[in-house]
Amino acid sequence: MNFNPADNIQDLQYFGEFGGVNPSISDSSTYTFLAAKSMMDTFEGNSEGCYLYSRHSSPSNLYLGEALAAMEGTETANVDSSGMGSISTVIMQICSSDDHIISARTIYGGTYAFFKNFMPKFRVYTSFVDITNLEQVEASITENTKVIYCESVSNPLLEVADLSGLSKLAKKYNLKLVVDNTFSPLSISPVKFGADIVVHSLTKFINGASDTVGGVVCADKEFIDSCRNVNNGANMLLGPVMDSLRAANVLKNLRTLHIRMKKHSENALYLANRFEEDGLKVIYPGLESHPNHDLFTSIYNPEFGYGGMMAFDAGTLEKADELMELMQKRNLGYLAVSLGFYKTLFNAPGTATSSEIPMKEQKVMGLTDGLIRFSIGLDNNIERTYLEMKKCMEETGVLEFQL
Ligand SMILES: *Cc1c(COP(=O)(O)O)cnc(C)c1O
Repeated sequence: MNFNPADNIQDLQYFGEFGGVNPSISDSSTYTFLAAKSMMDTFEGNSEGCYLYSRHSSPSNLYLGEALAAMEGTETANVDSSGMGSISTVIMQICSSDDHIISARTIYGGTYAFFKNFMPKFRVYTSFVDITNLEQVEASITENTKVIYCESVSNPLLEVADLSGLSKLAKKYNLKLVVDNTFSPLSISPVKFGADIVVHSLTKFINGASDTVGGVVCADKEFIDSCRNVNNGANMLLGPVMDSLRAANVLKNLRTLHIRMKKHSENALYLANRFEEDGLKVIYPGLESHPNHDLFTSIYNPEFGYGGMMAFDAGTLEKADELMELMQKRNLGYLAVSLGFYKTLFNAPGTATSSEIPMKEQKVMGLTDGLIRFSIGLDNNIERTYLEMKKCMEETGVLEFQL
């Protein structure tokens, strides 16, 4: 299929109202109508191109949504004020009480907590499964199942979902396959492999500046319209709307995503290779030692690489903490959650971004105490970074632990 997500973004054209090369920012919460009749029509959702109130939609948000839809190859998209705002509204739009969700067990901690602790309030229950095991996924399907949920590349162990296999199951049982593509924008295009709905936290690689939170739902027009419906749409009624000024900023940052992703991937692959040679237990899907290396290779858009996320086991939590503090002191990155920044970011997910997942379950997933998750930055000279990081590992004894 001739589908290049970066070219699709490049091909879009929006001009500002005075011919500006960027679209004008719609700095308004409400919109005037020349005729009272058209206000009525807009309320009823049958007035294309008219704006009513910015919780419903706004020009700046639509521009960003259309660019993200072009990237993911869906008919349209809706942007939200956070990734969790997108994920929670998708689920609440699809599911009613007594419905059932099948979710990968290795997912973002906030999504895990939402499924496990929040949705049961509405009698929506989730089975957490090993998403790489299609038999287990199929065996978990019940007559109440509505959704199969996964991340194309999972947090923090970088498991890759077999999207084609999952999509076959979803079609067979009439379920929606919802894929969180936050870790692999441009690299993986889930719709090509049958995903029905693609969500992103824009907070991460897509915005890439660590200055805002945001989210998007990319899907067909029917689903997005249902989410925005003034009478029963989750986005309209729960209200996680993105601010127009932020939407305009994210759109500008999106335009360099392809360059940034290439560099994140190139740097991460370099470090993963070198640290593996040094004897570290490195988790990176670009390494042949990664259990899902072949699967990733069979579905990715090669020019964008295997992504900027990498993890390795420092042995113990104490060693991991010591190493991260030293790397921060040497200005190799920041001890911080989140990802997709120009600087390398690192944290120990067991105690930070996956802390919503109980310790016992973390063990079953293979999430060890000493695991450090890295979002590799855009360092110009990655060999210099490698050598400095290696020194930190030698000084903290992390390399000795491995050998
Ligand atoms: C950060 C993240 C989210 C949540 O997004 P927010 O913008 O923080 O609400 C969801 N999924 C993944 C994979 C993430 O990394």
